[in-house]
Amino acid sequence: MTVRPSEAVGSHGSESTTGALWHPFSDMGGRSAPIEMVRGEGVWLWDVDGNRYLDGSSSLWYANVGHGRPEIAQAISDQLASLETFHIFGDFTNRPAVELADRLASLAPMPDPKVFLTSGGGDSIETAVKLARLYHAVRGEPSRQFVISRVQGYHGTHGIGTSILGMPFTEGFGELVHHTARVPWDSAEALEAEITRLGSDQVAAFVFEPVVGSGGVLVPPEGYLEDVVRICRAHGVLAIADAVICGFGRLGSWFGVERWGIEPDMIAFAKGVTSGYLPLGGVIASAEVAEPFFGEPGRMFAHGATYSGHATCCAAALANIDLLKQDDLVHRAAAIERPFHERLSSLESHPLVDTVRGGTGLMAAIVLDGDAIEERPALAGDFWRAARRHGVLTRSLSYGAAVAPPLIIDDAEQDMIASCLGAALDEVQRSRR
Ligand code: PLP
Repeated sequence: MTVRPSEAVGSHGSESTTGALWHPFSDMGGRSAPIEMVRGEGVWLWDVDGNRYLDGSSSLWYANVGHGRPEIAQAISDQLASLETFHIFGDFTNRPAVELADRLASLAPMPDPKVFLTSGGGDSIETAVKLARLYHAVRGEPSRQFVISRVQGYHGTHGIGTSILGMPFTEGFGELVHHTARVPWDSAEALEAEITRLGSDQVAAFVFEPVVGSGGVLVPPEGYLEDVVRICRAHGVLAIADAVICGFGRLGSWFGVERWGIEPDMIAFAKGVTSGYLPLGGVIASAEVAEPFFGEPGRMFAHGATYSGHATCCAAALANIDLLKQDDLVHRAAAIERPFHERLSSLESHPLVDTVRGGTGLMAAIVLDGDAIEERPALAGDFWRAARRHGVLTRSLSYGAAVAPPLIIDDAEQDMIASCLGAALDEVQRSRR
């Protein structure tokens, strides 16, 4: 998500134009010809001119099972043929939504949770934070309003997500949501100090990504996640894990949090739940959070979007989860995280590279040398555009590039990412002389 406006749309593309289409996070006045993708298969993509690319970023961190899987297309088609969807407000329901909620509840790392379905990651953050405030209110603590998040955290672009962002995409929007606070991404002590400063009885929730994704692949320090969940519990603050990127195998587990043995009060998910075949997200709420709403009649969570529980999106998610299980991709990501990271870490010997972050799951960030970026601020853009010319797509960061390939990636394809990124770095280095 850290995109310099002038670099947001590619320079290596077809002659096709954007027309009326307004690209997200893009400098529409300064853009160059966009690349039009027309086909995907496995880790591979082809543009309209026939150029082939390795999808090193799983599009926007979501293509976990890879592109073009016929099983998901078939599930979508079958569902459309019987009932595209019907809403699930009040006393209506549909079978794929029920099955998906039960499947997710059975995979979740907390006992007897409930699942609220949404249309995507930003929707899920709105849902989780509103539910956190309401939960406290119905239990007699309406003063608990503050939502604490981390510097470098990214939680989408809806009203609450924008307000709790730890990145600089808030300017000019004015204050959207009151009662938010930010703490450093790596200090549990700082979280506790902030809760104390605000007053324990004023804080509703702490929102955190298990590994910060768009903010630069920041792996938490040893003990950090265990400590923040313990601190939240001690102060009655709900711990909300934003597993929108980290879930569905990206970190080698279903919801990203399991490897630390933590049990958040809520988990927000999206992206990998359908691998992007259709938009869907949701919130898994612990039995305790759900209890005031399920325990007795007369109370409701007055929240929900038209497409909550969209039957065809849920059918896509179910087929995607079947594939993750059938191909054992959740475990595969854990099994290959070390060789994956070792391959990319070999780039650290390049003079343009400062460090390669990652090592937890299939996500990494190539961080370029600070002095070189100071000398040429467009260096990161030069790098990921060169990588693209060498056939590998990465996710742009203002100081480098993130790599998070589909979980099906094989050894040769991982080698190709490392060698193409190396060649791209050499090319950028040569052009500086
Ligand atoms: N949370 C995290 C951690 C994300 O990375 C994103 C999107 O990249 C979101 C929330 C927002 O998801 P969406 O773009 O589906 O609204």
